[in-house]
Amino acid sequence: MVILKQREELRLMRQAGRMVAEVLALLEERLRPGVTTGELNAHAETWIRKQGAIPSFLGYPPGARHPFPATICASVNAELVHGIPGTRMLHEGDIITLDVGVLYQGFHGDAARTFAVGAVSAEAASLLAITAAALAAGQAQARCGNRLGDISHAVQTAVEPHGYYLTRQYSGHGIGRQLHEAPQILNVGLPGQGIPLAEGMALCIEPMVLIGTAQTRVLDDDWTVVSANGALTAHFENTLAIVDGEPEILTRL
Ligand code: MG
Repeated sequence: MVILKQREELRLMRQAGRMVAEVLALLEERLRPGVTTGELNAHAETWIRKQGAIPSFLGYPPGARHPFPATICASVNAELVHGIPGTRMLHEGDIITLDVGVLYQGFHGDAARTFAVGAVSAEAASLLAITAAALAAGQAQARCGNRLGDISHAVQTAVEPHGYYLTRQYSGHGIGRQLHEAPQILNVGLPGQGIPLAEGMALCIEPMVLIGTAQTRVLDDDWTVVSANGALTAHFENTLAIVDGEPEILTRL
């Protein structure tokens, strides 16, 4: 895992993170019925390249049989993560998760939000609120003196008592010079367990929340992960660094 040892490394991680947050804000402005996920993807890629940065997800992982073919992941309704943007058109009442990764000057930033398209059901609004709160709860534990399991436990206890489910198949991760680094950050766990959290660690915390089941399946495109029961899903993620012992959210404007 990356431990940011110098001010310069932290500066670059902040810049990469800020770009990710800016892309998410730009895409959020474009969310409306009639927009396609492919249009959102094209806009993100153009903007990222104009900054002199590189989309982290495009072609990831290198050497794979089917590397991810786009700049953003766009996952609609039952799609939990890794949705491939294309001709799918958004409709009033949809929820869509946009996941963005940016590589800038050797360092990655990575974040996701689930957005409402127009007015959504009370069920969808509740799912989004719970998932966002779970991310906030996890982030608050990312401080010196705590252990990795404190993050996992905070996420779990922000979700499961409300009757929602967390996937065990996918998790958060360390980040830095690689998009995915150790440690794996599970969304379920025990407090006081796991590695101690240390100054300069850069982490991605990302609760992925489902309704009625924790089970998922992967579609024939080899990427898109959907809920096994077809119910709505949500995913919020930030990149943070532990600075002066405390969590500094890098993918926030
Ligand atoms: Mg991630």
